[in-house]
Amino acid sequence: MCSFDKIKDGLIECRAKNRLPENSKTVIVACFPYLLDESVYENGNVSKYAVVTDYHAVALARLKTAVEELEGLYPNEKFAFFADNSPIPEVSAACYAGLGVRGENTLLITEKYGSYVFIGEIVTTAELEFSESEIKSCIKCGKCREFCPSGAISETGFERKLCLSEITQKKGALTPEEERLMKECGCVWGCDICQDVCPLNKNAAATQIEDFLSSPEATVSQGCELEGRAYEWRGRKVIERNISIVKGETI
Ligand code: SF4
Ligand code: SF4
Repeated sequence: MCSFDKIKDGLIECRAKNRLPENSKTVIVACFPYLLDESVYENGNVSKYAVVTDYHAVALARLKTAVEELEGLYPNEKFAFFADNSPIPEVSAACYAGLGVRGENTLLITEKYGSYVFIGEIVTTAELEFSESEIKSCIKCGKCREFCPSGAISETGFERKLCLSEITQKKGALTPEEERLMKECGCVWGCDICQDVCPLNKNAAATQIEDFLSSPEATVSQGCELEGRAYEWRGRKVIERNISIVKGETI
């Protein structure tokens, strides 16, 4: 948990911001690990987070159950919950809550599951008791910077528009350089390089979340089913364009 005051100046402008309860006091932060057995990823072509079923529904269902319990315990308080589409600066909130450290690649790195976690939050007007941490940085070994193929991570910070996670989501035509990077990486959705080289991820534990274990899909191909996958929201055109690029059909 962390106090709402700690993150309120960094709230993200988005529609979901309207759902924050007035006079919020506490943010309860939850991590949902998604790493599967290494063998699942062999010959895959999407980022590890996209191999599991779309996490939004999985996380939101669990957060909703937790909120229902909390509403019973604190009937006079207000609650709202978020996953991804969130006004909360999630990595900062998770660090303040003591769930991990902030990597140079801007991701939360937890002790047990490394950075292979989704983050969700419950924001409440209840003043709950907890011990708060400060934001700590990773060991700054520089490996993510060294291996990032696009130069998105530098000494001066992180440039989102250069990151392949962003590039693979872009609509329309990509630049020749963006196409080259995607083809070289071989991933048609996202990129795992900075996570895979991070020493703090070396012994990351696998998930035990049944929904994630039950339907992994490491490879996408032209015409494949998109429903329930992390890339569904972007539409077929984008993912199929990326497949063509990686296959070398448009470069
Ligand atoms: S996800 Fe890939 S492109 Fe983005 S910062 Fe990490 S290594 Fe670089
Ligand atoms: S690779 Fe090194 S610098 Fe990058 S996030 Fe991991 S520990 Fe930090």
